[in-house]
Amino acid sequence: MQSVEDRYVQSRFSNTFPRTVELTCPHCLKVAVLEARSWQEHGHEVAASEMTCSRCEGSVLFIQLLTPEATVRENGLYCYPGSARREAMPGVNYLQSLSGPLARTYDSALKLYNTADWGASALMVRHLLQGLVIQLLGETHRDQPLARQLEALPGELDLSRPLQDVAQLLEPAGTFGRQFDDEAAIDKVSADLLMELAEQLMTYLVVMPGTMEDLKKRIATAPVPLRRGSDVA
Ligand SMILES: [Zn+2]
Repeated sequence: MQSVEDRYVQSRFSNTFPRTVELTCPHCLKVAVLEARSWQEHGHEVAASEMTCSRCEGSVLFIQLLTPEATVRENGLYCYPGSARREAMPGVNYLQSLSGPLARTYDSALKLYNTADWGASALMVRHLLQGLVIQLLGETHRDQPLARQLEALPGELDLSRPLQDVAQLLEPAGTFGRQFDDEAAIDKVSADLLMELAEQLMTYLVVMPGTMEDLKKRIATAPVPLRRGSDVA
């Protein structure tokens, strides 16, 4: 079940249940209006409706959470299968802090993707990668091809920076090191911070390399599209 923000609801029935919702249809992958004929309440906490895509007539199940008064709960709308829309990655605010223009390029790439304009979206991603490496490397590598710029990144950037200072926190005299001496005194706030620290480290050391390997395998085995105009044997 995927959450559907209220801003995608275009119109409502008089009892405020969603009547039309705009989303990227999971069947035809186009931005489309899905329309409900009716809603059925199940118990006192949810109502369900099967909405139909105005473009391909594919159906999507919608679930609406209800308040104790049986009215529509704010931001309580979910759908299955989920919208084919790509949302911005978590942490996109850090990209915004690094560079407003880069964040806008990423936003444009997402918008093109979400209108199924695959070619334009891919070109925008290339533009984004070029902008990103120049932002990180500086002007010295500006005239190199993108592949060379990417190769230069590990030599130019201090990739160990996220790991620095973490060791100090865990030393016996460090913030967490001291707390380990008296585990009964560790409260939820400290436990949350320590858990988050471990998760960030695992993301950097284990998850990111693992997902990158998987992605490279998928790229290696993805079917290569035939060039337009080439002979089909
Ligand atoms: Zn559709």
